[in-house]
Amino acid sequence: MSESETQGTRQCVSCGIQVAGMNAARFSCPDCGETIHRCAKCRKQSNLYECPDCGFRGP
Ligand SMILES: [Zn+2]
Ligand SMILES: [Zn+2]
Repeated sequence: MSESETQGTRQCVSCGIQVAGMNAARFSCPDCGETIHRCAKCRKQSNLYECPDCGFRGP
């Protein structure tokens, strides 16, 4: 596996906005380990996230 994440590809999984440079939460999908980003707004609202890789949904 190679870490080939390019700049500007970090998006909130809930609302889809670019989170680069924002105070966004970053965590790994509990199911597949994919890195997931969520913006501060969605984190505050406790929006559900959905893993873009495996479709796992969580709070
Ligand atoms: Zn968001
Ligand atoms: Zn996943």
